[in-house]
Amino acid sequence: MVGTVLHRFGYAIYTEVPSDDFNQMAPILENMVSSFRISNLEGVIPYAQWSRRSSAHFTFYYYSNSNAARDIDTIVFEHESGFDNITRTIEVSYHGKVDYYLYPSENILYRMTRRPYGFAMAEDNECHVLYASRQERQSVGHEATHVIPYHTLGEPSETLLGEGIAVALDQSSDNHDKTVAELIFLDRYVPLASLLGENWFKQDQLAAYKQSGSFVKFLIDRYGITKFKQLYVSENFLAALQTIYGWGLAELEDEWKTAVSPAWEEEEFP
Ligand SMILES: [Zn+2]
Repeated sequence: MVGTVLHRFGYAIYTEVPSDDFNQMAPILENMVSSFRISNLEGVIPYAQWSRRSSAHFTFYYYSNSNAARDIDTIVFEHESGFDNITRTIEVSYHGKVDYYLYPSENILYRMTRRPYGFAMAEDNECHVLYASRQERQSVGHEATHVIPYHTLGEPSETLLGEGIAVALDQSSDNHDKTVAELIFLDRYVPLASLLGENWFKQDQLAAYKQSGSFVKFLIDRYGITKFKQLYVSENFLAALQTIYGWGLAELEDEWKTAVSPAWEEEEFP
């Protein structure tokens, strides 16, 4: 391995040829090396040339000729407000700075990261998100919420909790409870017991994200943040529910589903 740039790495391929053979061998070696290429970065601006703006808790990086550049004052304001809301809700103080990359299109996000959607690298205080326009962009809070609890609470014991808190605190106006009510109505609801461990990734992802977010919000709203923080890092999720809340998963799931069901009645379903 020859080095890392952000979250990618490069391999060095080394060979020796007699100097008399060099001209003949060079094109063969070049072809071989280019056959390893996995990403077409033509037309993509290298990270080192992105514009940047620092605020109290973030450094934003973005294409200088982009909607993010045009909207950067609003972006700073929204993310700093979101940061305050997130740290206030989970009752932590966090002084680290988050490196926040705003990609101008899904295509560029994919070509530069090989990931189809935005993501966080919590350990490294990095968020990578889509910001194509005011309409086509990721939520302000989701990826930042992956970073802040990681450095203050610890690693979540379940994806249900880690993604759940990111959805619950995404700072969007989406009504996740209503989506859960719709999923129940459409018979797409996934029992929480099927969202534990690695199974979380094998389920309908809309259900996995929205149910996790709505359930986490319910636990925090009804039972308080202190209990939730204990649960978040508990080694055995099912046993911890019983110890911390005095209920098993099935009972809490029923209580939560009853609590979100009024979201049904607010609007009519098709
Ligand atoms: Zn997430």
